[in-house]
Amino acid sequence: MRLGLTGGIGSGKSTASTRLRELGATVLDYDQLARDVVEPGSAGLAAIADRFGAEILRADGTLDRPALGAIVFADPAALKDLEGITHPAIRERAALLEREAGPDAVVVHDNALLVDMGAHRAMDTVVVVDVPVETQVQRLVERRGLTEADARARIGAQLSREERLAAADHVLDNSGTPDDLRAAVDALWETLARS
Ligand code: ADP
Repeated sequence: MRLGLTGGIGSGKSTASTRLRELGATVLDYDQLARDVVEPGSAGLAAIADRFGAEILRADGTLDRPALGAIVFADPAALKDLEGITHPAIRERAALLEREAGPDAVVVHDNALLVDMGAHRAMDTVVVVDVPVETQVQRLVERRGLTEADARARIGAQLSREERLAAADHVLDNSGTPDDLRAAVDALWETLARS
């Protein structure tokens, strides 16, 4: 089965996905997939260099992320073009890894942008890790070392909590301790095994 796992930045999504991996799920980490599809030699990186020019490549042939970021964050049309290259490549790579996992695997699509991208519609079940925005801000500041302004800007760039929750089949509340979250993941795993 395909389990979509999402949550706003700092919500605890990585903590939940680590637990799901421990329970035996195959976890597809979309941050990693996004890096894979622009590796040197990939079709994705070639397409990006075609569209944005060789100045987004470093001397060693790898993608210069800050250079590309500076272009697309200032220009919505450029961002759309970039996503038009990377999103299909990411979907294709996820499908390949899913086939490799086999028909009996629980495949977790661990994707912060699951709902933003509309990818939740292709899942059998959608799990949202949820905390109040103020908790997100506090954890990003205390545990990740972001400034409060940066934390709020990053949260503001994502879908709202309400929009994400509207897509959820299951909600994992992470306003308690990390152990509480792991227990909630275990309970969900039991529920899914019985369904
Ligand atoms: P995400 O992947 O959603 O961005 P993480 O799982 O990395 O979030 O969690 C963000 C930070 O908050 C991490 O440093 C993590 O260890 C910490 N964290 C996660 N859950 C809790 C919790 N229930 N209480 C306190 N800190 C937590």
